[in-house]
Amino acid sequence: MRKTFNTPYKEALRERILAASGVKRAGLVLKGAKVLNVFTRELEEADVAVQDGFIVGIGAYRGEEEHDLTGRIICPGFIDGHIHLESSMVRPEEFERAVLPHGTTAVVTDPHEIANVAGTEGIEYMLRETEGLLLDVYVMLPSCVPAAAMEESGAVLQAEELRRFYDNDRVLGLAELMNAPGTIAAEDGVLSKLEDAARMKKRVDGHAPGLSGKALNAYCTAGVASDHECCKKEEALQKLRRGQWIMIREGTAARNLEALISLCKDPWASRCMFVTDDKHPGDLRRLGHMDWIIRRAVLLGADPVTAVLMATLYPAQYFGLRENGAVAPGYRADLAVLTDLEEMRVERVYKNGRLAAENGRVLHKGIPSAVCKKGADGLGGRVLSERVPFVPHGSCPYAGSKAGAGRRYSKGHSADSERTADKGAAGTMDTRCRFSARGGSGQRYRKTGGI
Ligand SMILES: [Zn+2]
Repeated sequence: MRKTFNTPYKEALRERILAASGVKRAGLVLKGAKVLNVFTRELEEADVAVQDGFIVGIGAYRGEEEHDLTGRIICPGFIDGHIHLESSMVRPEEFERAVLPHGTTAVVTDPHEIANVAGTEGIEYMLRETEGLLLDVYVMLPSCVPAAAMEESGAVLQAEELRRFYDNDRVLGLAELMNAPGTIAAEDGVLSKLEDAARMKKRVDGHAPGLSGKALNAYCTAGVASDHECCKKEEALQKLRRGQWIMIREGTAARNLEALISLCKDPWASRCMFVTDDKHPGDLRRLGHMDWIIRRAVLLGADPVTAVLMATLYPAQYFGLRENGAVAPGYRADLAVLTDLEEMRVERVYKNGRLAAENGRVLHKGIPSAVCKKGADGLGGRVLSERVPFVPHGSCPYAGSKAGAGRRYSKGHSADSERTADKGAAGTMDTRCRFSARGGSGQRYRKTGGI
C-alpha cells in the first residue's frame, strides 16, 4: 500500500500509539460528531483522533488541532470497486477533483479502454498519472485486450505483457474476465493470465452476463471472484450461491441498482458492493459519484447504514484493503463528513487525515501530472483537461441532451442498447474521448452476452 507518512515506520507507529493511548495529544481531533461504526452498525457520539494520516482513537481526545463537527456524521470515505477511469473523459487529476468532494477516497480502475487503444503504454500512463494523487487509485489489469477477436484494437495483451505490472503494489489483480467462453474452454492464453494472478495472490474480477449452471461452476473454479453484469436478482443469487461477490452497477452507461435493490439487505448485502463501471463528466458534476448511488439506494428502500457499508467496508474487504473502509483505530483517516445520513450530503472530506474538500470544493492542490507526449496515433497527445473542461452545472451537452436524459432513467434497456445509446449521445460531443470511442465496448458485450 502507499505510504502516507515520511518518517520511518516504527517512529511513526510509536507516535500513533502514544496518541491513541492519550499520552500525547493527537495531531488532529474531530469533535462533536456521530461516528458510523461499520462493524456494529451503530452511531457513536465520540471524538475521532487522527495521527500521521491514520485514525488512532475513538473516544474523548484532545488534539494539537481540533475541528468542531457538532451535529455531523462521520463515515469512512467511499470506494468505487470498479470503474474505467478513462470513461470519465478527463485526466486522472481532474477525476480526483470531481470525486473527492463527493466523499470518494479510493477507486479501483480497470484501464481496459485506454489499453485497448494504447496497449501497455496506456496502463503505464494510468499508473503514472495516478501515482501522485491524493485519491487512492488501485488498478486491475485489463484481462481482455482486445475485447473480442475480431476487434480492431490498438494492442493485443497477453500474459507476458501484463506480468510485470504486478510488481506495482497498487495493482490488485486481473480485471473483468470478459472471455468467459475461453475461460470455460480452459484456453491456454487465459490460463496463463489466471496463473499469474493466482501466483501473486491477486483478485480476478468477472464479467459474464447470463452465465449459470456448469459454465458458472467452471468460471468460478478458474478463480473469478466477482461479477458486475447482473441485471436481475435471480442471476445475482445464482452467482452469490457459487461464492462470487456481486458488484451492483449504477453508472452512466448501465444501471442495475433498481433491479437489484432487494440485494441491499441481509443476508446478501455483505457480499455485494456498489460500482459505477463508467461515469461521464456531466454525471459526476450533476449527480455525484458513490454518494449518489447510496442516496439512490436509500430512496429505493435500502437501509442507509447498509448502503454505506456497500461503498466502504465491503469493497475494502473484497479487495483486501485492510486500511480502508472503516472509522476505527489503525484505519486510514479517509473520512466523509455528512450533514445527514439519509440525504447523504457530503460536507467535508478528509483524506489521509487532511481536510481535502469542503462544501463541494477541493482544498487539496493537485500535483500537476506529466503531459502525455505521444503522437496522434498513440495516446493522442491530448491534455484531456484542455479539451474536456468540466462544464458549468447543468450545461454539459451530454447530460442535457435528450438522448442522455431519456436513457438515464428509462427502464427495460439491456446493457447493450444502453451502451449503443451511450455512443450515440457521446458522438454529439466534439469533446468525446477517443479512448471510449475506440474501445468497442458494444462489441465485447455482444460477444460475451447470452452465454
Ligand atoms: Zn467494466
